[in-house]
Amino acid sequence: TAAAVEDPIIPAVNVNYTQLLINGQFVDAASGKTFPTLDPRTGDVIANVSEGDAEDINRAVAAARKAFDEGPWPRMPAYERQRILLRFADLIEKHNDELAALETWDNGKPYEQAATIEVPMVARLMRYYAGWADKIHGLTAPADGPYHVQTLHEPIGVAGQIIPWNFPLLMFAWKIGPALACGNTVVMKTAEQTPLSALFASNLLHEAGLPAGVLNVVSGFGPTAGAALASHMEVDKLAFTGSTSTGKVVLGLAARSNLKPVTLELGGKSPFIVCEDADVDTAVELAHFALFFNQGQCCCAGSRTFVHERVYDEFVEKAKARALKRSVGDPFKGGIEQGPQIDTEQFEKILGYIRSGVESGATLETGGERLGDKGFYIKPTVFSNVKDDMLIAKDEIFGPVQSILKFKDLEDVVRRANSTPYGLAAGVFTENIDTANTLTRALRAGTVWVNCFDIFDAAIPFGGYKMSGQGREKGIYSLSNYLQVKAVVTPLKNP
Ligand code: ADP
Repeated sequence: TAAAVEDPIIPAVNVNYTQLLINGQFVDAASGKTFPTLDPRTGDVIANVSEGDAEDINRAVAAARKAFDEGPWPRMPAYERQRILLRFADLIEKHNDELAALETWDNGKPYEQAATIEVPMVARLMRYYAGWADKIHGLTAPADGPYHVQTLHEPIGVAGQIIPWNFPLLMFAWKIGPALACGNTVVMKTAEQTPLSALFASNLLHEAGLPAGVLNVVSGFGPTAGAALASHMEVDKLAFTGSTSTGKVVLGLAARSNLKPVTLELGGKSPFIVCEDADVDTAVELAHFALFFNQGQCCCAGSRTFVHERVYDEFVEKAKARALKRSVGDPFKGGIEQGPQIDTEQFEKILGYIRSGVESGATLETGGERLGDKGFYIKPTVFSNVKDDMLIAKDEIFGPVQSILKFKDLEDVVRRANSTPYGLAAGVFTENIDTANTLTRALRAGTVWVNCFDIFDAAIPFGGYKMSGQGREKGIYSLSNYLQVKAVVTPLKNP
């Protein structure tokens, strides 16, 4: 809290939850090691956090195993689990501003966005899954002989969960919500860039009554703590959100260890398609939001803006003007739309892609360089005349760089939009119902937003086609990731 007091702009918040959470206790790493978590506004250290590795993962899995095999959590009436999750949601609301402050401080996202959108979404999502807790049950099935057949939907066991840094608290909630509602226990490996908010929230979950060992949180790095979790023989299920390349690694680790089932939510290069009937001003605003939201650090970012040739020139002019108007600065200040990128690695990577865009002949309309000389701020950048084979049209940039491409007709845009190894999301902007129907059916993506973008309600499933992932999170679909189906067959004496 000392740093918070020194910085007049940061709301008071406790940054003292820095240890690992194992078996209901905050403890040091077995090695005693720590690592710094940095403020993306300055690169300064916020706090030193315990650095978990394989030995800590072993301890955390042992606690989760015991809590699953012997503890009350999978055995208590579902209604009791529901009450704990509901109390947790209440506590999130009570601590909304502190959680938002931690999120902004550790991640760099605008405080207003964290406080008014993301933290409330976490509470909402926990209530949604609390609602499912006492509505999970099996079926009876017909048999050909004199048998009574029923299915039991049982929790799968110890869930290992690995999350990224772009929405630290929301990703934490998407993962633990269904896992806990179904009666599983969890070992969570947070992203090394953003360990703080999950630790704070986990403390609240214990305050709400969660039994010790049900949720364990290990801060640390991917190749050490993350890999140990993915390859652990006592982990029954793995859920991962992150890059496609790391997704391949963890899937391999899961296969080579105990064949634990894996769900993956990976990268994207989502098309945002502006049709010829578009109201250009509205389309520009939505396409801008689809790309620039969260500093462009969204796996589903609308990072290929396809614009029909009839409205293309007007669109480019207005997209440029909108990007120039975007307010970039200290994310704790009011009215700020864009804060710094997460860290120096992402910052350099994005600037590299911008250079590649210029070198490959795209037109740099605005931006293209860092903002200021401190922290990881990048000017909102717009490229026009982008061609499909340019790196900026193919790779996930994960930054505030909009690439505008011109298209002729629906057939042309469908082919090009689908010609990517990714398939996470797509945006369609049109007033024409036939155009909307054609596109929503033809696009190979897990989500198609029509005349909207980035709508993430708890009940809406999210996940990817192709190399954007396996399985779905949120909604009813995520429950099956955390349940086993047991068929029970008994003879009928008097059929
Ligand atoms: P990003 O580029 O967004 O950091 P990553 O996929 O590398 O994407 O990171 C997402 C999460 O995966 C983080 O929690 C990170 O620590 C973890 N991770 C990275 N490498 C590995 C690995 N080899 N095994 C398991 N987890 C990993």
